[in-house]
Amino acid sequence: MEKDLTTLSPAEIDELRLDAIEPTLSLFDEVGHLFEWLNLFYVHGDSGTAIALSAGGVLGLPDFNGEQPEEMRALATRKREEAKVIENEVNVRFDAEWDRRGGWTRAYLTPDGDIHRSWECKAVAHNYALLPEHSGKTEEEIIAFAREYACAVCYPGAAVEWPSAIERVTGGSYGLHELLNQGWVGEYGLRGSPEALVAEACARGLRARANFDADLGWSVHLLPHTRAESPRRWSTIPS
Ligand SMILES: [Zn+2]
Repeated sequence: MEKDLTTLSPAEIDELRLDAIEPTLSLFDEVGHLFEWLNLFYVHGDSGTAIALSAGGVLGLPDFNGEQPEEMRALATRKREEAKVIENEVNVRFDAEWDRRGGWTRAYLTPDGDIHRSWECKAVAHNYALLPEHSGKTEEEIIAFAREYACAVCYPGAAVEWPSAIERVTGGSYGLHELLNQGWVGEYGLRGSPEALVAEACARGLRARANFDADLGWSVHLLPHTRAESPRRWSTIPS
């Protein structure tokens, strides 16, 4: 049973939309892999099959179980049509509610941690992710959250001199001091647990993440002022 979009908030609607479009993204991925294999086959013939099979792990290509190129092309075409149908259904349903309300504000994250009002902003170079939890928010609300990471083109109110993290945080542990100076701290600079350092940073309005690497051990990194540690669904600017 599909939810009645007319009763939901912009944030809830955009979250649902991302969930609804997810299956088409995996289908388009699969289709892309199938066409990669077909390209290898048509350029290199049977040796293309060998390349695809041996490079499968590297290229992320699936196993082909001996299908013929014609079958593979038919399969890829069928899956692409299937993905387009779902994508179209999702767009029609969600665009109707967007149009009924005359739209709402949205916020987009770029990999550098900046937040934009529109993915068409000139400062968005390549990839962006919709932040559904900020849909419908005012400029003031976005700036209060993102501070120096609010794009000053998209949010003119953010065009002020923000104090850097190191300027606005006073005191703290030795580990926090190192984190603010360098942006990250390795195992030997922690003088305590990584979790404690992350908690201390977060309590002071910073965002940090602990990483464990089998070779390098623990490290704690300062993050842009976003929820960049949670999985994001990145989109690419159409060329
Ligand atoms: Zn911008």
